[in-house]
Amino acid sequence: MVPTTSKCDAYPLRSHLASRIGGPHYVHAVGPFTDRDVPSFVSALGIPGIIDAHVHFLPPRVQDAVWRWFDRLDPPWPIVYRSGEDERLATLAALGVRHHTALAYAHRPGMLRFLNDHTLGLAASHGAVIPTFTIYPEEGVEAEVARCLAAGGRCVKVHLQVGGFDATDARLDGAWRLLQTAGTPIVIHAGAVADGSGNEQWCGPAPVRRLLGRFGGLLLVIAHLGAPDHDAFVALAEHHTGIWLDTAMIYTSPSYLAEVPVHLTDRVGALGDRIVFGSDFPTMPHAFAAQVRGLADLGLGDDWLRAVLWDNGARLFGLGMPTATAPPDSVPTTRPPR
Ligand SMILES: [Zn+2]
Repeated sequence: MVPTTSKCDAYPLRSHLASRIGGPHYVHAVGPFTDRDVPSFVSALGIPGIIDAHVHFLPPRVQDAVWRWFDRLDPPWPIVYRSGEDERLATLAALGVRHHTALAYAHRPGMLRFLNDHTLGLAASHGAVIPTFTIYPEEGVEAEVARCLAAGGRCVKVHLQVGGFDATDARLDGAWRLLQTAGTPIVIHAGAVADGSGNEQWCGPAPVRRLLGRFGGLLLVIAHLGAPDHDAFVALAEHHTGIWLDTAMIYTSPSYLAEVPVHLTDRVGALGDRIVFGSDFPTMPHAFAAQVRGLADLGLGDDWLRAVLWDNGARLFGLGMPTATAPPDSVPTTRPPR
């Protein structure tokens, strides 16, 4: 079912939303309340499902280590979707996530082939998985990128904070050059999260600007809207058409830990063709539906939601699937994937 707009009174963004609700373009301004509601909410928008640009699939023992790290956090970070790999794939499918990445990342040299074999292998056996690989400043990384691109890789994950490296490390030059030439989207975690991970010196807008200064043609998807530096990363996206933003863990309703950056809503709305939905599944402290609802709560309209949940991701990852016909009560403004 698609909840009615009257339910918005229960949510913290209601005053912001109230100024936007009311016109025919905001018929889906209040999103799904539970995970069970997500597929019907999405199909009422007239899109085939969700493309999630920010989903993690690490090899099991690495995933377990990451979860043990989250278990130690204070305030607590309960992991809602903690289960085996097959169950997580089935959960995403049941949510109506038709395509998703498989982000993995290294915290030391020597892990690349192990991680990339896992994520590319998953994509080879599951059609919903976008072939994803990662890079690290180490000997042989350029050859590894070439190998992964040849194997069909369509997305790269870079985690500057966990990796603890300079994005402009000379050992990455060849890798960046290959990715720039291929036009491969790079989901880059560049925000310094204050969770005790350290490595803040490699994070923030400055290293990303330096990287773009050397490889201006890279297609970067700034994870988590660049939090906590959202303002600077939104400004960077406004001035650089190669910068996209993912929404993972930023727009949740209700919010968790950090407040939703509502002061950026109009600018994020204006960047609507370069914003992609991301969830950070499975290591999320709340239901998946909270992030879909968080986007709907922004009140940016059905066209914006269709673009963010589906069309932009299809274009970004070259998924080449036709855009579904919008329902009769809305006007589709989406463009075909290129
Ligand atoms: Zn993540």
